[in-house]
Amino acid sequence: LATDAQVVQRESESISAKTLRSHAEKFEFQAEVSRLMDIIINSLYSNRDIFLRELISNASDALDKIRFLSLTDKAVLGEGDDAKLEIKIKLDKDKKILTIRDRGIGMTKEDLIKNLGTIAKSGTAAFLDKMQTSGDLNLIGQFGVGFYSVYLVADYVEVISKHSDDKQYIWESKADGAFAVTEDTENEPLGRGTEVRIHFKDEASEYLEEDKLKELVKKYSQFINFPIYLWASKE
Ligand code: ADP
Ligand code: MG
Repeated sequence: LATDAQVVQRESESISAKTLRSHAEKFEFQAEVSRLMDIIINSLYSNRDIFLRELISNASDALDKIRFLSLTDKAVLGEGDDAKLEIKIKLDKDKKILTIRDRGIGMTKEDLIKNLGTIAKSGTAAFLDKMQTSGDLNLIGQFGVGFYSVYLVADYVEVISKHSDDKQYIWESKADGAFAVTEDTENEPLGRGTEVRIHFKDEASEYLEEDKLKELVKKYSQFINFPIYLWASKE
């Protein structure tokens, strides 16, 4: 049974939505990853739209992986909604949150820690060098660090993921050198796959426009082999 003090704390945690969960396990980003994120979150780069291309591309890669596994073992797809290989994008204008949800392979706790923070890819240093000379963030995907482009538009990101080998976990970071991972006991079960929750910066209000998002989804879904659906909440 929760004491009054615990209830109050939990309520205030959900109100100040951009505070990392106090009970979460904390990790430091690998040094180069941290430098890269610092550059991205402070960047005045004008073509910020690319964040959506990178997240759609990651969702599509995750769907490709589960589809590939299903070629030899059809059961991995599961049943009902889990078997639908699709991407859902949802805008919540009031909360200023965009979610991108896939029914791909998902990430275990270890995957979240390694893939989103502690293991630098060979491309990280190369991309940092490249940024020093050309400053063209558009190439970020080619260096294997596309995920971090989300911090062009976000000041806080949550990644909720469920892989068949593990429980559901929440990864979260404000790109300030640290990230946190917690077992997810608060959100609905995903079944399988990943949901990226983008909490927009105040300066990224253009992405709260449904038309703008529609145009971007159309543009970036052109070469994606899975259906992509876009929802927007009414004002
Ligand atoms: P890349 O896609 O080039 O590998 P990213 O920075 O975009 O680089 O993503 C890093 C890694 O994080 C991916 O390789 C993948 O392992 C993991 N990842 C990111 N998004 C997802 C997702 N939606 N589902 C599963 N894994 C993901
Ligand atoms: Mg990628």
